[in-house]
Amino acid sequence: MPKDSSTPDSIPRLITCMLESSNAFCILRLKIHELIIVCPMLFSYCLGRNKNNKNDKNMKVVVIGGGMGGVAACVGIRSYVASSTQVILVEPKDHVEICWATYRALFDPEIAKASLYPLDLFCSKHNVLHIMSSVTKLELLPTTTGDDNDNNTDTTDTDASIKVTCDNGTIMDDIDVCVVTTGATNPYAAWGRGKEYLSLSRPERFAAMAKYGKSLLDAKTVVIVGGGLVGTELAGDIAVFSRDIAQSTRVIIVHTGERLCHKELQETASKMLQEKLAELGVKSILSEKALVEGNKVTLESSGQVIQADQVIMANGIHPHNNSFVDAQYKDDKGWIVVDEYFRVKGAERKLFAFGDCATALPNTGNSIVNNISTIGYNVKGVLDVAHNGKEPWISKHAAHSDVYICTVGHDDGVAQTPLLSFDSALPAWKNYSMFLYDARSKLELELEEGDQKC
Ligand SMILES: Cc1cc2nc3c(=O)[nH]c(=O)nc-3n(C[C@H](O)[C@H](O)[C@H](O)COP(=O)(O)OP(=O)(O)OC[C@H]3O[C@@H](n4cnc5c(N)ncnc54)[C@H](O)[C@@H]3O)c2cc1C
Repeated sequence: MPKDSSTPDSIPRLITCMLESSNAFCILRLKIHELIIVCPMLFSYCLGRNKNNKNDKNMKVVVIGGGMGGVAACVGIRSYVASSTQVILVEPKDHVEICWATYRALFDPEIAKASLYPLDLFCSKHNVLHIMSSVTKLELLPTTTGDDNDNNTDTTDTDASIKVTCDNGTIMDDIDVCVVTTGATNPYAAWGRGKEYLSLSRPERFAAMAKYGKSLLDAKTVVIVGGGLVGTELAGDIAVFSRDIAQSTRVIIVHTGERLCHKELQETASKMLQEKLAELGVKSILSEKALVEGNKVTLESSGQVIQADQVIMANGIHPHNNSFVDAQYKDDKGWIVVDEYFRVKGAERKLFAFGDCATALPNTGNSIVNNISTIGYNVKGVLDVAHNGKEPWISKHAAHSDVYICTVGHDDGVAQTPLLSFDSALPAWKNYSMFLYDARSKLELELEEGDQKC
């Protein structure tokens, strides 16, 4: 049963720690009343361990998708499971990208280099096997529990096995737990998300970023459809970077909301943002719907027509390339439905989904890095069921942050915390670092020497 929120984390975590790291000394850190609870549990856990003939050595976890969600899952899982448990990452690219820096990376090659991390360094550091391919099929195969009288064919059962097929012909079976982290796609090619926009190698992605950045600075008029955080940050950067080279691209944001970033920002912060963008010459057209035909944008209510050199759709994301996940596990929009433990509903003992592809939490990198430990701990909990047949100890996902920071070009921006909105400190820090250091340290990523500038 899912852990009650009042249950102290120390107990399951201690058991995990003792059994997996053989650190028996950690018992000395427990208080007497905790020992009274832990000892019987530990005893029954150890008894249960022998019930199953599968041991840690042949446990196999497959993570599908190597974006921020995938590498976060690998880090989390590796920190809880025994080193003998196989962790396999299936990802067609040779690198992972910190997407939240991409809008700046289009114009700043130093940021571009520092936001793309080679997966080979990551995988060798974390004892993860990288299969450079895309998954085309994921099957949950009902099996009997091994008991002669057991005709159990329920795929939610721990003894169901998972089989994964990749487009390079690799077939993996006998998988104990699978974590799907295939992300989402934005329809703007420069973000590099989605099968048709994918750059497989790091040099290819650098080149693509530089190409898209240059084309924006060369454009006379760019229309951004969608005035959320992604659209407004990009608008500010186009305005400032084009001004820096005396090209002054005209930027227009068309937004259905009454104010910019109306879903994330309150009125004060939203107003500040709009004023700053206006000072840079960015025009915000609010409460309007853009009807787009190629590079022609018609405003639905006024009928005004804008002919642009480029139209960027920044009005939301879509589930990406997860057709290999059975429809029964997805909602009507195609997102994978999970509970608050990141377990896929209907396959709780076998499948997890994490990051943008899943229904839990907003689609932010921040939510991912705040839940590295949760996903690792919960996968471990479910793997343990295969050992002892008991309900797993798992924990609920961490809440997402209420702090929003929206840059306006490389020197300005707006931050909103639950208490107040302001335009110094945090925006300045984001502009300076793009929070790449934070992502790099939490996701335990490494760059080649010479690329580590932020
Ligand atoms: C421009 C932009 C700005 C953003 N700004 C912020 C911000 O300021 N703050 C913030 O917190 N978040 C921000 N985000 C959101 C954040 O970056 C995402 O939430 C995060 O990157 C999602 O990671 P993910 O791993 O779930 O998905 P993705 O990064 O999309 O990764 C999915 C991976 O799965 C792989 N894949 C897909 N299908 C398959 C398959 N069949 N087999 C194998 N692999 C597959 C893909 O190749 C990809 O590498 C921003 C995003 C963008 C695009």
